[in-house]
Amino acid sequence: MSPQEKIIKASHLIDMSDIIREGNPTLRAVAKDVELPLSDEDIILGEKMMQFLKNSQDPVMAEKMGLRGGVGLAAPQLDISKRIIAVLVPNPEDEEGNPPAQPYSLQEIMYNPRIVSHSVQDAALADGEGCLSVDREVPGYVVRHSRVTIEYVDKNSNKQKVKLRGYNSMVVQHEIDHTNGIMFYDRINESNPFEIKEGMLIIQ
Ligand SMILES: [Zn+2]
Repeated sequence: MSPQEKIIKASHLIDMSDIIREGNPTLRAVAKDVELPLSDEDIILGEKMMQFLKNSQDPVMAEKMGLRGGVGLAAPQLDISKRIIAVLVPNPEDEEGNPPAQPYSLQEIMYNPRIVSHSVQDAALADGEGCLSVDREVPGYVVRHSRVTIEYVDKNSNKQKVKLRGYNSMVVQHEIDHTNGIMFYDRINESNPFEIKEGMLIIQ
């Protein structure tokens, strides 16, 4: 049974045992475009990936299922070499601890996502990045484009174009990298991990 066949079974919930870790060659492969219009299997896979992110951010489910929290997942991390990513970025509570009016600043399943244009300015997250496929900390600034325009196909097989900046831009670039066989630490300056090149934006 292929990993995809296993995952799309109705009762299956993606958990950490479905996620491959660094060293697996699938994480270094350039993934294939999915065929359009989307197949039922690819639609279900995208939904399952999004459900995983929701579960991973739900304290009760995460504890029960033993999940690390995540804001993004790419199909190659499930040993499925296809250009499918899911991103789920929660908005913070307000200053009084009330839930935000909009629960998510970004919630999307993207098929065949591509960066079609980007800013000259680079950016990095102040706290660095982590990855569900990497069971260790790798400190340093992960240098990315500050702003990107992404084209992708949504779950209804419709073409979409979005402009992203800030944290959302970093998350989507991390996941698109997975479809190109790139790990986040490839973008850290090895000899000077916390180097700030002129003009680089540090996102708190
Ligand atoms: Zn990752």
